[in-house]
Amino acid sequence: MTEPAHDEAHGGSLGERLNWLRAAVLGANDGIVSTAGLVVGVAGATDDRAALLTAGLAGLLAGSMSMAAGEYVSVSTQRDSEKAALAVERRELREQPEAELEELTELLEGRGLSREVAREAAEQLTARDALKAHARVELGIDPERLTNPWHAAWASFLAFTAGALLPLLAIVLPPSTARVPVTVASVLAALALTGWSSARLGAAAPGRAVLRNVGGGALAMGVTYAVGSLLGAAGV
Ligand SMILES: [Zn+2]
Repeated sequence: MTEPAHDEAHGGSLGERLNWLRAAVLGANDGIVSTAGLVVGVAGATDDRAALLTAGLAGLLAGSMSMAAGEYVSVSTQRDSEKAALAVERRELREQPEAELEELTELLEGRGLSREVAREAAEQLTARDALKAHARVELGIDPERLTNPWHAAWASFLAFTAGALLPLLAIVLPPSTARVPVTVASVLAALALTGWSSARLGAAAPGRAVLRNVGGGALAMGVTYAVGSLLGAAGV
């Protein structure tokens, strides 16, 4: 609050934004793979466009809502434990400020500052905003920027939906003979792109990530198509 400009630059940090972007790419990837497996499997069994649309849409909604609910629960739990940790910290600061100052000093020393400089820094941080200092240095969280579970839920809902739309449209729009080839080709191309992006965002070498991702998607579609064809041939 005493240095808003700095706090803003710190808040939306590059690492944080990269994490969000990476989560979005992975969510889209999930949407692509699971919906592609579903619609290609149904296409193995039937030519009926209405059945394909129903299956694809149901898969899209079920997947995106399950992702959103999972994300909501996990972020809420994380937020609860962060709030509990902050409450403990707040109480400790109130009840034993000296011990807390010493603790902060030692943590800063552990990060490479000399005893004197660490003590001086700890005193200044404590004078400015003791809770924030302990939250950041000790707990590794920013008390003003706890992740919002609703934001996280919406983000994964949208990411999954965006990914799922590709195989859904690819299976429904083309004429029946071209459906499966068009879907397989566009899904594999999209998986190469998401594999490459997530590797780059995680600063990993993209080559293997692309191969694994494309291979995983090809396997998913191969298995469901085989099962769908068998069931279709058996007249189920
Ligand atoms: Zn503390």
